[in-house]
Amino acid sequence: TEAALARIEATEPKVRALISVQAEEARALAKSMDESGPDPSKPLWGVPLVVKDVLATRDAPTTCGSKILENFRPAYDATAVTRLKDAGAVLLGKANMDEFAMGSTTENSAFFATKNPWDTNRVPGGSSGGSAATVAAGQCYGALGTDTGGSIRLPASFCGIVGLKPTYGRVSRFGMVAYGSSLDQIGPMARSVEDAARLLQVIAGHDPKDSTSVDRPVPDYLSALGGNGSLKGLTIGLPAEYWDKGLAPEVAEACGASLKVAQELGAKTVPVNLRLSQYAIATYYVIAMAEASSNLARFDGVRYGRRCENPADLMDMYVRSRTEGFGDEVQRRIILGTYVLSSGYYDAYYRKAAQVRRLIRRDFEAALSQCDLLAGPVCPTTAFKVGEMTSDPLQMYLMDIFTISTNLAGLPGMSLPVGLGRDTGMPVGLQLTGRAFDEAPMLAAAHALE
Ligand code: GLN
Repeated sequence: TEAALARIEATEPKVRALISVQAEEARALAKSMDESGPDPSKPLWGVPLVVKDVLATRDAPTTCGSKILENFRPAYDATAVTRLKDAGAVLLGKANMDEFAMGSTTENSAFFATKNPWDTNRVPGGSSGGSAATVAAGQCYGALGTDTGGSIRLPASFCGIVGLKPTYGRVSRFGMVAYGSSLDQIGPMARSVEDAARLLQVIAGHDPKDSTSVDRPVPDYLSALGGNGSLKGLTIGLPAEYWDKGLAPEVAEACGASLKVAQELGAKTVPVNLRLSQYAIATYYVIAMAEASSNLARFDGVRYGRRCENPADLMDMYVRSRTEGFGDEVQRRIILGTYVLSSGYYDAYYRKAAQVRRLIRRDFEAALSQCDLLAGPVCPTTAFKVGEMTSDPLQMYLMDIFTISTNLAGLPGMSLPVGLGRDTGMPVGLQLTGRAFDEAPMLAAAHALE
């Protein structure tokens, strides 16, 4: 804990990964644990961790990167946080994020932008950019992020760490401030596949407080990693749509080299198709914005967080509290989400998107019936320069092309660092996508390729 706090002090002025640091609380806890001695029943005993500021924490502010929740302190812990604490983890702080997890660069935080520790002129990815940067900068030994449309995998890829989005329902969402409830999942971000497996082990499993969490046994992820490094018998599907000309050559090269290693280790690769990929961005953004507009209705100046000064009447209070509290991107999404849900347009947009979503899911099921895992890049490029995407939200949405379908289909996915790009010198992530609830074989393959 002392080493992590010292590292935070040394690197934070440049990286700015954390919205709040609970140094005193962490020290006191670590000290008392030291005095009582190691507890072998606690798999994360004494491990300093960070969680994204979208997860409710009783002893630390929970801002979601938004002014509207600037001084908000929940009365309870998210289930994932409770499970980390029960496993003996020491929580150091809360990670910066795009406001309400809307964004791909962590430049949409209402407080400050996080920088990529590999090159502070570049973004760390988003929306869990703070979680990725704090792990990559060595400020902690692992972090939790959330992934609604790539927000764990994209920053993990940009920062050269391991990030895993579990199957929808694998991890309880209780206490995660909802963005797109049918897409959201909490997952681990860590320096190695083994560390990610350890974190997933602790947070996975049924929770009566989240009706979408699934009551299925949690396998032993660590022992599933295996040890001999062989990939014999594994078939990896390569979706043609993910490997086309739009990729930066350095990304294609690093991902391709990793697949060569997979073949040398005994894996077979087969071409597959995800024909509806071209509709993924449109489908995702209709559904995500619709759900966001509904979820964010709760921030009304009455129940949580910020209320405007001297409201003239109730409507003025609602309007000004929300106008002052929400940033531009959040307002854009609330307006678009409300529009696609409105009575005259519901059938044309929301219902249509829900139908296409079902077809996208079937596309994945068909592809995964021909192979055990899908592999492709996480993003067409490596981390881009700070400011490059801020003026054009559509350009930013396009960065999600390879990640969002996994959420639409509810499947598990991860980003594995596979080297540095030849042109930018920045980390490249290989994306693996598995069958529902097949995190264990996905982790095993990633471990062999690591
Ligand atoms: N770029 C995606 C969005 O802005 C990321 C969402 C997420 O996974 N939280 O919606």
